[in-house]
Amino acid sequence: FLFHSLQAKMSRPVQAQRLEGIDKNIWVEFVKLAATYSKVNLGQGFPDFPAPDFLTEAFRRALSGGNHMLHQYTRAFGHPPLVKVLAQFFEKLLGRDLDPMTNVMVTVGAYQALFCCFQALVDEGDEVIIIEPFFDCYEPMVKMAGGTPVFVPLRPNPPKDGKLMSSADWQLDPAELASKFSERTKAIVLNSPNNPLGKVFSRGELGLIAELCVKHDVLCISDEVYEWLVYDGKQHIRIASLQGMWDRTVIIGSAGKTFSATGWKVGWVVGPDRLLQHLRTVHQNSVYHCATIAQEAVAQGFQRELMLYGKPESYFVQLPKELQQKRDWLVQSLDGVGMKPIIPEGTYFLVADISPFKSDVPDVPNSDEPYDSRFAKWMVKNKGLAAIPLSAFYSEAHKNNYTNFIRFCFAKEEATLKAASDILQKWKQEKTS
Ligand code: PMP
Repeated sequence: FLFHSLQAKMSRPVQAQRLEGIDKNIWVEFVKLAATYSKVNLGQGFPDFPAPDFLTEAFRRALSGGNHMLHQYTRAFGHPPLVKVLAQFFEKLLGRDLDPMTNVMVTVGAYQALFCCFQALVDEGDEVIIIEPFFDCYEPMVKMAGGTPVFVPLRPNPPKDGKLMSSADWQLDPAELASKFSERTKAIVLNSPNNPLGKVFSRGELGLIAELCVKHDVLCISDEVYEWLVYDGKQHIRIASLQGMWDRTVIIGSAGKTFSATGWKVGWVVGPDRLLQHLRTVHQNSVYHCATIAQEAVAQGFQRELMLYGKPESYFVQLPKELQQKRDWLVQSLDGVGMKPIIPEGTYFLVADISPFKSDVPDVPNSDEPYDSRFAKWMVKNKGLAAIPLSAFYSEAHKNNYTNFIRFCFAKEEATLKAASDILQKWKQEKTS
């Protein structure tokens, strides 16, 4: 009786206010749908092919080799062999000297790197510019830090000659971007190559962002987890290497994306000590430390890549080659059924136009849920094919502006892509017969 009466008194709100309005998560919802209904899952971004042998062997060696200390805690801000090799690697990429102890920190995936950035650098009332469409967690993370996200869209310019659109056709309007910067702006989040479009920002576009950052004394949180996944000979340019940007940029990376091992959850940040010292404060008071064995194996992976840098045997050379073929294959098969793809310049995602399939999933006027979201749910339940609605990558205010697209992940075995294509072909035949 006493227990019940005590429970009844517990009527105060339990939820911290900072969680207001950020409880929904697209991945929780769509991962569950895919697990329940999908025969072919091109939804969430992870490869269904194995991580490279040299990496899994390094893990095995770390696990059962002679060094039993790899089962214990290591340095809080990054296992020494990993921060050392990351510093060496990024010295090469950025053309500047780096101190492994102060210019690099290891995190639990890029996700925790992002969390550290927002918690460490964003204050109540600060504005953070986010380019739409964006990896969805930026918005709730800014809000949790007390900041206000300010959105600026990439605007599509349809090609005139009837060709397929490219992610390069989605561009920032320079005047619109400039109008978002003010004395309240603390940071801009840049994600190049961009999830979900696969856009690889050009030097000109990055120059424009850099100029505005310098002019308004704004930080740049540069999410570069897809840095090696760039196609057609395009080059990934690091904004930190542009004039005036090193001191104000945090680069974020992910071994999950880099080595096709998303489950390992090893990520990192690279940047100036004046920024990273505050990220370390968040890290030491939250996660403190990441799994030692995974860090050791990733360190060995990077040592291999450092040795083979730029050579044909390098995984960072081979992986994009293989993925480009998969991209082209999926582009062809989507185009073949009339689900017009936007050809991505990078990442392992591809956005496609579902308009020709609209008759199968009639619109519901005045629905709160964007059309593409209902379409993606219908598709997984009725066709067994999982994809992610593009509107999930837009702010609440703008999610109804782009509701005719879904995102596919093509980091998949040939058989998986073929099975997806078979579903689409059959669907198209049913429509026309
Ligand atoms: N940033 C972007 C743009 C991503 O797409 C992802 C993963 N989907 C992450 C960060 C998170 O990476 P990790 O798995 O290393 O936490």
